[in-house]
Amino acid sequence: MSTEQGQAGPPQWMIDTFNATVQALMEGTATACEHVVAGQTNPIVAVAWKPGIVSCVDCAQQMFFCGDKERCCDFCGLDVSDGEPLMNMQLRHGALFFAAAVCVHCAPDDVLTADQRAFRDRSRAGA
Ligand SMILES: [Zn+2]
Ligand SMILES: [Zn+2]
Repeated sequence: MSTEQGQAGPPQWMIDTFNATVQALMEGTATACEHVVAGQTNPIVAVAWKPGIVSCVDCAQQMFFCGDKERCCDFCGLDVSDGEPLMNMQLRHGALFFAAAVCVHCAPDDVLTADQRAFRDRSRAGA
């Protein structure tokens, strides 16, 4: 059994958000750090909770992780600071890496471990 993400792919909302960010980047409407230049091949980073914002790897910490959202599901906004797991999922388009963190309720089954599925089913039953 594998606990790796992957075979069935990310959920549609994540692909939509990713495509919007790619498009903003192509059109030059994305908010970017000063190191992101047209046609570059160095990795650049975007995250689901800040669509339309891109940065180089070095600036990613500053651009994305100073807010209060890193312990929330990127899809439903569930606050997981009480210890619920977040799944990290990634998409890639050329040099652009796109990350999303989603709660066990929003993640597709195939990215969850058996334990995480059990956790989700327990919390559903108790809700
Ligand atoms: Zn930068
Ligand atoms: Zn969620």
